[in-house]
Amino acid sequence: MALSRRNFLTLLPAALGAGTWLKAAAYGEFTVMTVTGPVNPFGLGPVLPHEHVMVDFIGADKIQPGRYNQDEVFNTVLPYLKNLKAAGCNAMGECTPDFLGRDPLLLKRLSETTGLKIITNTGLYGAAAHKYLPAYVETSGPEQLAERWIGEFRNGIGDTGIRPGFIKSGVDKGPLSNLQKKIVRAAALTSKETGLPVWIHTGDGAAALEEAAILKSEGVFLGKYTWVHAQNEKDLSIHEQLAKAGAFISLDGLNKNSAEDYISRLTFLKEKGLLQQVLLSHDAGWYHVGEPGGGNFRDYNFLWTTFIPMLKEKGFTEQDIRKLTVSNPARALTISPPNPRRLT
Ligand SMILES: [Zn+2]
Repeated sequence: MALSRRNFLTLLPAALGAGTWLKAAAYGEFTVMTVTGPVNPFGLGPVLPHEHVMVDFIGADKIQPGRYNQDEVFNTVLPYLKNLKAAGCNAMGECTPDFLGRDPLLLKRLSETTGLKIITNTGLYGAAAHKYLPAYVETSGPEQLAERWIGEFRNGIGDTGIRPGFIKSGVDKGPLSNLQKKIVRAAALTSKETGLPVWIHTGDGAAALEEAAILKSEGVFLGKYTWVHAQNEKDLSIHEQLAKAGAFISLDGLNKNSAEDYISRLTFLKEKGLLQQVLLSHDAGWYHVGEPGGGNFRDYNFLWTTFIPMLKEKGFTEQDIRKLTVSNPARALTISPPNPRRLT
């Protein structure tokens, strides 16, 4: 599953433009930011880009430190991450945002113990009718929100020294509410300043088109954008349209019930020559804060133990599988030079 530099380069989407990439690569500006520090995207290995270690659904108005015992969460999650590492996965995007139970120190502890690279995020989640947005979002402009997130990238989250590797936002189905538009705009401003990728939990295709339009209007190239939960949309022409524009299509609810549907979506995108724009994950885990023992924890193994053999049976090649598990997520997590004009 090793990713050669040659493969990585040939798999780059029209996205960055080879000239820009090569020029920037010469400056060593491309990186993936994990909770234990920056790593070379070429060395990331197999990745699950969208999973969770812990989530607290209490709401932004009630969430507070001390609602869980970190040792208990650590001990509950540890065997699942060890299993995942043993299955051949080397890195995980941990998609729990701030105000939903993001705990960078817990992630760092788990990463150091297992050797699994973990990537955390900055940003705010505006889906679920704003339940997870703190009150200050109402009175802040997108610039002020972006300032907080840029600060987390530059200085670390709180006083942990741990830096986010992507912006995680969230919206419901379209049309977007004003607050949702505001946080997408703030994500765009943050990305332009830092080079961080923008990943947005999205209710449907209409919302995806709207957020892509906002990002573009702010000058963010769509190669920086990941449409999270693209499986929520049945109209595959929207997948095709956004993938052609450079966006990553995240099919991230993989399990035994969704496997057949995912294979038909992957087959469609492969036939369109767009497999290099697809991400696969389970959206599994997680320790539920507030439930005894963390409630029902779902493991992260289906892709490795069952789905890859299914793909092979359907004619997907080793190279296809390498795209889906290694090079695509590495590209979707790569922090590229923030603004092309700074390259000149
Ligand atoms: Zn998720």
